Amino acid sequence: MAQGRGAGRKFSFEFYPPKTAEGAAKLQQTVKQLGQLGPDFFSVTFGAGGSTREGTLATVLRIREAGYAGAPHLSCVASTRAGLAEVIQEYRAHGIRHIVALRGDLPSGLAAAGEFRYASELVAFIRELTGDWFHIEVAAYPEYHPQARKAQQDLAAFKAKVDAGANAAITQYFYNPDAYFHFVDQAQAMGIQVPIVPGIMPINNFTQLARFSDACGAEIPRWMRLKLEGYGDDVASIKAFGLDVVTQLCDRLLEGGAPGLHVYTMNQAGPTSTLWQRLGL
Ligand code: FAD
Repeated sequence: MAQGRGAGRKFSFEFYPPKTAEGAAKLQQTVKQLGQLGPDFFSVTFGAGGSTREGTLATVLRIREAGYAGAPHLSCVASTRAGLAEVIQEYRAHGIRHIVALRGDLPSGLAAAGEFRYASELVAFIRELTGDWFHIEVAAYPEYHPQARKAQQDLAAFKAKVDAGANAAITQYFYNPDAYFHFVDQAQAMGIQVPIVPGIMPINNFTQLARFSDACGAEIPRWMRLKLEGYGDDVASIKAFGLDVVTQLCDRLLEGGAPGLHVYTMNQAGPTSTLWQRLGL
């Protein structure tokens, strides 16, 4: 990604670990297709309490075998220090040097919150255990985390993760670029200097998007929601409108100086490939 408007920026694509052999085979194809777009890395999510521990690592290793850089996520909710230390050392033993450190969310039915309350404690723990071995990414929330009582407290929590040793941040997805630029301005005013890469969610299915957005506190602006609802089962129109909106969003972010883009691919190659063509990346 060295030339044109992508120069000097970081691009990454996120996957979740596939649950079936069929899903794993499909993901291999997706990695190949998206690999042609020249991302800096692919990241792979981690289920709370270690539920995808093996799948996350196996997926990262397959990405590496295909010739690309892979960064596993690690979440600390419902986990012990000893268990987390094991995973961190396992990543290190495999020569993995890039990690996305998160708190995670407690799955319903799981009562124990674990030994760490916040992602900042996990970042500090990774540094304590492995020094500078890992490039650590953390999450950031331009529209604020749904559990944050005050915007200022959420910003302070973000700063705590950076102060604990995070090298960069990836945001929750959003459709209002002003929220992102405002967040970056505030972070910089607090002395935060790490790159804050916007997370991008392509739009393919309105029901699924609405469910996700309600859960994670990402706002779908009213004009978009009404338009998408109005399409009903007309999937082609939802995709075409979604592509226009997300292309314009990415254009504005890149023009406004965003240091890259991180796409939540949902393990699909098509939407990201089309978006890349439209963006001329
Ligand atoms: P934190 O930074 O710990 O923040 C959580 C909440 O606690 C916030 O409301 C914050 O304001 C508050 N807080 C933090 N520190 C303090 C403090 N000292 N005092 C008071 N309040 C505090 N989830 C997964 O399970 N697996 C994944 O792989 C995964 N990948 C993700 C990738 C990205 C890029 C993003 C944006 C999210 C991802 N998530 C993942 C979801 C994430 O785990 C949830 O959003 C979770 O609710 C918060 O995680 P966090 O790391 O931001 O937590």
